[in-house]
Amino acid sequence: MPWVTRGLREGIVTTRYPRRSDGYGASFEGHVVCASGATGDEVEAAAAACPTGAIALEAAGARLDRGSCILCGRCCDIAPRSFHFEPGFETAALRRRALVVPAGEGDDKTITEAREQLRERVKGLRRSVHLRHVDAGSDGSEEWEIAALTGPIYDIHRLGVFFSASPRHADVLLVTGAGTAGMQASLRLTYEAMPSPKVVIAVGTDAVSGGLVGGTYASGQGVAGTVPVDVFVPGSPPSPFGILHGILLAVGLVGEAPGGAVSGPSRDQAEEREGMAS
Ligand code: SF4
Repeated sequence: MPWVTRGLREGIVTTRYPRRSDGYGASFEGHVVCASGATGDEVEAAAAACPTGAIALEAAGARLDRGSCILCGRCCDIAPRSFHFEPGFETAALRRRALVVPAGEGDDKTITEAREQLRERVKGLRRSVHLRHVDAGSDGSEEWEIAALTGPIYDIHRLGVFFSASPRHADVLLVTGAGTAGMQASLRLTYEAMPSPKVVIAVGTDAVSGGLVGGTYASGQGVAGTVPVDVFVPGSPPSPFGILHGILLAVGLVGEAPGGAVSGPSRDQAEEREGMAS
C-alpha cells in the first residue's frame, strides 16, 4: 500500500486558495507587463515580431493587449526594458478592455460598473455553482488545465463548484477555443439551454480574442461574438489557478486586479463556501 505511506508523508496537498494566497500559484509567471510610456526602436521591433499583434504603438507609448497575448516571450527578448514576465495568476477581467495595459482613462469606472452588475446577477449562486464546459475549437491545452481543477491540488469541489453534464443544470458556461464556425451554433444553443441567471467565462487567449487563429475563414475573434462573455481569462493556456480565479470572480468571491487579494466580504464568503462544501 505505497499510496498510504505516500499520503502520510506528503500530508494535505490541496491549496487553500482563495482563503489564503498560494506560494506556488503566486510564483507562476502568468502575464507580460508593458512599461508605461514604452517607445523606441526596440519596442517597434517587438511589436513587429509579436505573432498576434498584441502590441499597439500609440502616441503615449506602447499598449499591450493581454487578451491577445499567447505568452510566447518574443517581446521580452527583443525589448527587455519595456516588456517582462511577471508572476501572478489573477489575470481574469470583467471587461475585455481591462486586459489592455497600461490602463486608459475611465477604465476603472467601467470595471466598477461591470462588477456591480455581475454581483447583482449572481447573488443567488451562493451555495453551489455548476459549470458546463464547451470546447469551441480549442487546441486542447485549456482542457488539460480545466481537468486539473478537479484533482487533489485544486479540488474545486471544496468550494461548492461542480461540473455538469447538461447545460440545463449549469450556472456558468466555460468556453475554450477561438469560436470556430462549426461550433458557433452549438455554443449558442448551449447558452440558450441554460437557466438564468447564467454567466459566461471565456477561458484562454483563443476564446478571448481568437489568438493565433482568430479572424480567419474558420473562426471569429474569440467567442464574445457568439455568446455574451462576462469574464475574460487570458493565457495560452491559463494556469488552473488562473481559471479558478476567473470562476471565483464570476461568482463575486475575489477581486479582479492582477495580484489583487481576496478581501472584505469576499473573503468571508469564500470561507463560508468552503465550510459548507467540506
Ligand atoms: S509575449 Fe505576448 S505580447 Fe509579447 S510577443 Fe508574445 S504574444 Fe506578443
